[in-house]
Amino acid sequence: MHVLITGGAGFIGSHLVDLHLARGDSVHVVDDLSTGARANIAQHEDNPNFRFDEADVLTWDRIDRVVGWADRIYHLAAIVGVYRVIAEPTKVLATNIVGCERILRAANAGGWKPQVVLASSSEVYGHNDESLLREDQDLTVSTRAGTRWGYSVSKIADEALGLSYAQRYGIPAVIARFFNTVGPRQVGRYGMVVPRFVAQAVRNEPITVFGGGLQTRSFCDARDTVVALDALATHGKRNTFVANVGNDREISILELAELVIERANSRSVIEHVPLKEAYGEDFEDIRRRRPDLSRLRSMTGFEHRFTLEQTIDDLIAIERKRLEDSRNGHCTLVRPQSERAA
Ligand code: UDP
Repeated sequence: MHVLITGGAGFIGSHLVDLHLARGDSVHVVDDLSTGARANIAQHEDNPNFRFDEADVLTWDRIDRVVGWADRIYHLAAIVGVYRVIAEPTKVLATNIVGCERILRAANAGGWKPQVVLASSSEVYGHNDESLLREDQDLTVSTRAGTRWGYSVSKIADEALGLSYAQRYGIPAVIARFFNTVGPRQVGRYGMVVPRFVAQAVRNEPITVFGGGLQTRSFCDARDTVVALDALATHGKRNTFVANVGNDREISILELAELVIERANSRSVIEHVPLKEAYGEDFEDIRRRRPDLSRLRSMTGFEHRFTLEQTIDDLIAIERKRLEDSRNGHCTLVRPQSERAA
């Protein structure tokens, strides 16, 4: 199979690259390396089945040729991370919406209909704080919080684009709503909570819990996420549908902080940081987020391989190695313990 992965040097995309190359597929990645990193795909650079274009999806000049070559397209290239979304509100809308439209337009122009998988997000549920978020529930985006919602709006627009191209031109699109994906290669620079807590715990620095910490999230290991995505795409060869992709174990941010401290055997203390200080504006945090996975499970029979504890242990091992290397003045790539054992 020929697979195009936009954003394939990023955190989730690079795990998809690993999965498809391990299976013998040909993989083409386009990534502008804005949040992605060459190091995430460096292990494949000599693989004859692997190609990489460093380009922005908005201006990528080989788009028609490569989209026309692909049997399956994962469109993951986007501006992500709360800090980047706050800092670059116009770019979020342009890149996420126009980039998605460009990919779909090229897929349609190619004449034959590749399977498209679009990365959406639990952010589309906005303020909906039902105990379990189901795909057919309303998407409730507040008008109060200014640009904070630009990301949600961009992902709702991407979903609408995917559904429209499917209905109008018959391009099959799986729309995957990711819920808090975590795991190796994720960086905390743009706000993501788990790599931040792990880095703080390993250094015995205060763990910065934003707000009261009673807000909840459900974290899914990226190595599970990509297996679920592939299973959905296989199921959806000629179908268009929306599906939640994540893990339904819910945990408060305070409990997460305690868990990371315990797993790292750390001397860190928990420090509460007001939301305004953390994000620099009147920020509306989401109170709770837990996916209903009935659709994913009934379509694919998907089962998770990683518990949150395993993911955290892997991340602690990677972070310790990184710290040790930086103290010794060199840099190495580390494979997580669970991968070495596999
Ligand atoms: N968070 C935190 N400390 C940090 C980073 C994030 O307490 O250093 C909180 C954040 O306010 C949110 C939760 O952790 O309630 C998850 O944040 P993240 O940005 O990882 O994901 P999202 O809010 O998009 O679900």
